[in-house]
Amino acid sequence: MIYLDHAATTGVHPEVLLEMLPFFKDVYGNPSGIYEFGKDAKEMMERSRAQLAKTIGAKPEEIFFTSGGTEADNWALLKTSEQKKEQGRHIITSQIEHHAILRTCAHLEKNGYEVTYLPVDREGMISLEALEQAVRKDTILISIMYANNEIGTVQPVREIGKIAKKNNILFHTDAVQAYMHEKINVSEEGIDLLSVSGHKFGGPKGTGFLYVRDGIMLPPLLHGGGQEKNRRAGTENVAGIIGMGKASAIGEKNFEKNHEKLSGMRDYLIKRLQTEIEGCRLNGSMKHRLDGNINISFEGVEGEALLLLLDMAGICVSSGSACNSSSKSASYVLQAVKVPETYIRGTIRITLGAENTMEELAVFMEHLKEDIRYLRNGN
Ligand code: PLP
Repeated sequence: MIYLDHAATTGVHPEVLLEMLPFFKDVYGNPSGIYEFGKDAKEMMERSRAQLAKTIGAKPEEIFFTSGGTEADNWALLKTSEQKKEQGRHIITSQIEHHAILRTCAHLEKNGYEVTYLPVDREGMISLEALEQAVRKDTILISIMYANNEIGTVQPVREIGKIAKKNNILFHTDAVQAYMHEKINVSEEGIDLLSVSGHKFGGPKGTGFLYVRDGIMLPPLLHGGGQEKNRRAGTENVAGIIGMGKASAIGEKNFEKNHEKLSGMRDYLIKRLQTEIEGCRLNGSMKHRLDGNINISFEGVEGEALLLLLDMAGICVSSGSACNSSSKSASYVLQAVKVPETYIRGTIRITLGAENTMEELAVFMEHLKEDIRYLRNGN
């Protein structure tokens, strides 16, 4: 198998698995327990919290564990809105956010909030001028993703942070795709709330965290026990949290090496695609792009059929044309960046991981060229 879909999910790193195993079998005490047995789990969880905090320039007490990116996004939006409803009911986001944001915004709209969805340019960037213009007296939150999951465009987060601060508005960013690919510093970038998901960087699925800047009153999303300083009830996913912390430590140690490798492979592949396949078009930005992302459209090709042919050869890439496997409509992200009609359905997303090799890319290229020729000419 050649796995080129790391933005969808990643495998758990072998060292992460080893780190987690004792917490399923031997060290299974409840971290809320007062006996020594539970304390070991608690201590390891706190180590994980400190490690995660360090990677974004935060304090450990500003990290709250969640079940993933979706919960972190929902929590940030739903509870900021609730907390600030007397101040205003207007939120600013972008048209190309993940569904975890867009559908939460739609829910808020049904409940008396107003949402401005900023458009993006052809590279997928929001306009800072448009953002400033969208700010109103009753704006309580700006939520703009750090980097897009489909086209990999990285937003001008630092500038957004400045605009938010100047206008005294909270700034949340969904950093699920950017974490461990971009250097993030919440203080320097003026970020108040930030969502991360563990399974995108070698941690286990069902883990994540929300960074909440010290001093921000964010009511809990889940009610129950007093875990996470009364802000996120429920017995902690101990092994998962410890695994996510380990994945973050490994990612941090290899950050420069991985970044260089991924962007090198990305640029090599883009060059080959553009020179060896006629009628193709790179979507997103060349300059402001995640290191492992290639989103590319082939004219007159059905992306879903291409995906199936690649799958038959054991190659996993993602469809760029459908919102999800059950939806037949073209992706709202590709529509927002105005991919032409003749290209949009022939879009695939290739997302590289540090364990990919140049040999794999060469095999991928051969299959891709053959499959596109077949889909276009029938031979
Ligand atoms: N936000 C973005 C940008 C994502 O890419 C994803 C997952 O694909 C999520 C949020 C949701 O994260 P999770 O799968 O951890 O719920």
